[in-house]
Amino acid sequence: MREDLPGYVVALDVGGTAMKGGLVTRDGRVTALEGRPTGRENGPDAVVAAVRAYTGELADLGTSRFGTPPAGVGLAVPGFVTDTTAVYSANIGWRDVPVSAFVPDGIPAMLGHDVRTGGLAESVLGAGRDADDFLFLPIGTGIAGAVVVNGEPYGGARGWGGEIGHAPVWPSGEKCACGQIGCLETYASASAVARRFETRTGRTATAKDVVSLAQAGDQDAREVFGDAVEALSISLASYVLLLDPSLIVLGGGLAEAGPVLFGPVEEGLAARLAFREPPPLRRAALGMRAGMLGAALLGWRATGEPDAGRGWSLDVLRGGAVS
Ligand SMILES: [Zn+2]
Repeated sequence: MREDLPGYVVALDVGGTAMKGGLVTRDGRVTALEGRPTGRENGPDAVVAAVRAYTGELADLGTSRFGTPPAGVGLAVPGFVTDTTAVYSANIGWRDVPVSAFVPDGIPAMLGHDVRTGGLAESVLGAGRDADDFLFLPIGTGIAGAVVVNGEPYGGARGWGGEIGHAPVWPSGEKCACGQIGCLETYASASAVARRFETRTGRTATAKDVVSLAQAGDQDAREVFGDAVEALSISLASYVLLLDPSLIVLGGGLAEAGPVLFGPVEEGLAARLAFREPPPLRRAALGMRAGMLGAALLGWRATGEPDAGRGWSLDVLRGGAVS
């Protein structure tokens, strides 16, 4: 503990279209703020300006609330990223933006990859709190994973680690938007489930609708959902055999289907593992706030407190107000 530093950080989770901000005290009290748009349609420079304006507003809000400026700022951003530079995001279009461009002058700050930062939050505060080695797999518009090893997300040699959504499951399958063939994401992301159902039937439905229709016995929905489950089972079996995780944490929109998804994926995974037990599947604990909470941990790391969060109470985290 460094008592000479002010007692809170600014945390920001920057997505493609919206950003979620918060103030998080040293003892884990969270004030979560309403999301706001990134303004991506106005170009990458406008997004950088919008992020900087928002961190400045959050710093001002914290200063009026706590009587001091923030100790640090943490930001979760998409794309290829290091601690100090947002190197590239296809989604937003920026290149080589230094962390200092996102925050008010003079405040220590740290960047993190969006999914790995969510994985860090699940590791320190959430579903992976009691596990050192696990996969955090949010299934939403796309699929990316955070490979958590010894409690820390692992990005690989150059930061590309965890792109399990683009590991092929059917080499002669459908073309993925990334340019490869048969990627997991092409079959099992929430948008893929919706898209494949519409292509097949001409009917528009969300992934959630498709899951409900499959439950109700609709044959097309059953086949589309079945493909998603099978693709996930194949990918998870490879992951388990490579890295022997103690846990698999599923998150994102599709995981909200709950037992309807988890049951078949558990069965599919077990069926593909002949000589070992599968690890348990668990639902992510932090939901849409994982990125913001992980960004708060990065903000504390920027101030020189690498162990921030280890003693925080989950009750406190869940009770955070949206104001
Ligand atoms: Zn792909």
